[in-house]
Amino acid sequence: MKETLHREVVIVGSGPAGLTAAIYAARAELRPLVIHGPQPGGQLTITTEVENYPGFAEGIQGPELMQQFEDQAKRFGTEFLITFVNKVDLSQRPFTLWTEEGHEIKAETLIVASGASAKWLGIPGEAPAPEGLGGLGVSACATCDGFFFKGKSIVVVGGGDTAMEEATFLTRYASRVTVVHRRDSLRASKIMQDKARGNPKIDFIWNADVKEILGTSETGVKGIKLQDNKTGEESEFACEGVFIAIGHKPNTDVFKDWLDMDAVGYIKTAGVSMATNIPGVFACGDAQDSVYRQAVTAAGTGCMAAIDAERFLDSLPVATPTGEEVTIEGEVVSADHEQITMPDGEVVSNHPDGQPPAEGANQPAVVYARPSTELPS
Ligand code: NDP
Repeated sequence: MKETLHREVVIVGSGPAGLTAAIYAARAELRPLVIHGPQPGGQLTITTEVENYPGFAEGIQGPELMQQFEDQAKRFGTEFLITFVNKVDLSQRPFTLWTEEGHEIKAETLIVASGASAKWLGIPGEAPAPEGLGGLGVSACATCDGFFFKGKSIVVVGGGDTAMEEATFLTRYASRVTVVHRRDSLRASKIMQDKARGNPKIDFIWNADVKEILGTSETGVKGIKLQDNKTGEESEFACEGVFIAIGHKPNTDVFKDWLDMDAVGYIKTAGVSMATNIPGVFACGDAQDSVYRQAVTAAGTGCMAAIDAERFLDSLPVATPTGEEVTIEGEVVSADHEQITMPDGEVVSNHPDGQPPAEGANQPAVVYARPSTELPS
């Protein structure tokens, strides 16, 4: 067993969400500890040009952007620990996290910013070598591996923005890129579709399921086995690389026994705050966002989670997913803000003087009449 660390704010994940949370918590002098796996910086470090992160008029490379985040977090005293969290106990505060390296970490507040990972099809040939051809022509990251496919014929699987982006990017290297999609229309945004459809190096195979990736460890990828899901007809398609681009899964498995999540694994947060169902645990970024999933929204929610953690540590009420607010002492403010349930169960008024308001006291000062839709005769 390695040392036990005890911190006021522990952040799991070092993408835009986790590092923004770290910057805010560090500037609030909470000495945050960021725990991240061997791929620091999250998904942006496997991206090239980022053109939509505000503040960079000419765009910036993903890895460079994340290096800036990290340097900024370090400047205010953020500590980093490179390891995986493999077990947590969130039954009481301080929360306990255990890592693969054998650390035991006590956290007064926890910010989950563990992001999301690429999804796989689960077909023969897809697994990492030596079981499959992963690393021998199968990849889920065009930016990482596209360079190895100069002059080759590549298949991209998927019909969303990621698939269009990867296909377009891969035409820099490949002789031909074929997008294989399971339906006859794309999920991708119009602009991304237009870019891919207009690219003379890209073509499409529709209504097709990839059943197997063909090849051996000696030859690498030689093709794919396809099935037309309208006719059932099977065929083989020759290619030398396969990029799987079918979406992502949030990296939240280690928290699943504790935190409320949707069916995919996205952590449920309060909406008006980044609070989870457990007071003192907050979530931000792609671990809780199935809709926007952008670097800037991740950073924004990281900021919110850090401010929520600061408020919680300052004994101030923080909104929870039920609409109630909780404090670190265990007081619960009702969703209508009318009353407080104290830790011993006593219920008291939440009005300034402890008394319920006098009749009419909370009425707005001016009440505007609803304008008539009828014209005066
Ligand atoms: P999406 O969930 O949007 O798309 C996944 C695609 O993969 C869909 O076309 C889906 O098919 C297909 N798919 C899923 N599972 C399977 C399977 N088992 N077998 C075959 N096909 C499968 O994920 P993306 O990663 O593309 O995008 C995620 C989010 O990130 C989106 O909001 C997107 O807009 C955003 N994004 C934005 C970018 C940009 O603007 N630069 C770049 C990349 C992503 P079906 O359509 O039939 O469901």
